[in-house]
Amino acid sequence: MFTGLLLTRADNAPPQAQVTAIDEASLPVGDVLVQVAYSTLNYKDGLAITGKAPVVRSYPMVPGIDFAGIVLESSDSRYRKGDAVILNGWGVGESHWGGLAQKARVKADWLVPMPAGMTAARAMSIGTAGYTAMLCVMALQAHGVTPEQGPVLVTGANGGVGSIAIALLARLGFEVHAATGRMNEAEHLKALGAKELVDRATLNAPGKPLQKERWAAAVDSVGSHTLANVCASLKYGGVGAACGLAQGMDLPASVAPFILRGVTLAGVDSVMAPYARRAQAWERLARELPADVVEANTETIKLADAPAVAAKLLQGQVRGRVLVDVNA
Ligand code: NDP
Repeated sequence: MFTGLLLTRADNAPPQAQVTAIDEASLPVGDVLVQVAYSTLNYKDGLAITGKAPVVRSYPMVPGIDFAGIVLESSDSRYRKGDAVILNGWGVGESHWGGLAQKARVKADWLVPMPAGMTAARAMSIGTAGYTAMLCVMALQAHGVTPEQGPVLVTGANGGVGSIAIALLARLGFEVHAATGRMNEAEHLKALGAKELVDRATLNAPGKPLQKERWAAAVDSVGSHTLANVCASLKYGGVGAACGLAQGMDLPASVAPFILRGVTLAGVDSVMAPYARRAQAWERLARELPADVVEANTETIKLADAPAVAAKLLQGQVRGRVLVDVNA
């Protein structure tokens, strides 16, 4: 038996989340059994645990779209007992039991070896949100964005994706502008590496199709009017990496920035990203993101606290990242 957070749902009632003892025999089929050390709370975990959006495909479900831990058993030649591994995405915590438990059984194809210099706690303090931030940075760089071209805007700045994106871009030499609804967090955002703060209220209402050229690039985890205004404010040839929908899933934009300024909008998905890209992202995170920066951006909670903190996260009341110690 092991301890895990289990979501159950009766008919169409909201899901109930309970920390409970789970029989190892009830874990789903997979080639690798992992002793989970840490998981995290991401925006999608918030949706799953609260039931605010239909993220969970079947019940009962162990939520948790990511985890880091040690291999206990493996029938796949790529992994052996004792190997340190990371998992994020692939529908884990949505359609396959996830990381908010002391054990998980998954497909070997979904795992990434823990990069040298990384620990389980730091990997999950970065989590899917931080790994997605790195995928966004890689997308900007793949489109040739360099610090000399001008400032880069990061929206949803106090969120998981936003905070790590700020830290990564600043350490690559970019001038980072941070759009936030929490101007009172200026000190934290500047410590992460933001040079200037932008009040998100100036971006989240309907705007003109073309606006003053302000940023060479952007990382957006907010979507909706914010992303439309960001596209309209990118410099000639600018690039936006779009990965989120914290404001909304819509994109009420015009084609003007694309056809008149040659703007590029790069979509970023973390869930189905191919192995080579995810391994590269995790290796870069191990090298480029200092441990003290990650620590200062992280709150650690117990498994039993996850439901309450998940609700707070969806209300925009969590700053940075939430690390879940599944053994506490
Ligand atoms: P968080 O909740 O940690 O952060 C979201 C941030 O967005 C908030 O902290 C807040 O920042 C800002 N925000 C919230 N509501 C609004 C609003 N109505 N208007 C404008 N800004 C708002 O979430 P994550 O960082 O974990 O995830 C962010 C988004 O990225 C989510 O939509 C998530 O689903 C998506 N995502 C997508 C992935 C992919 O594979 N494409 C992977 C990971 C995440 P502030 O208080 O500073 O304004």
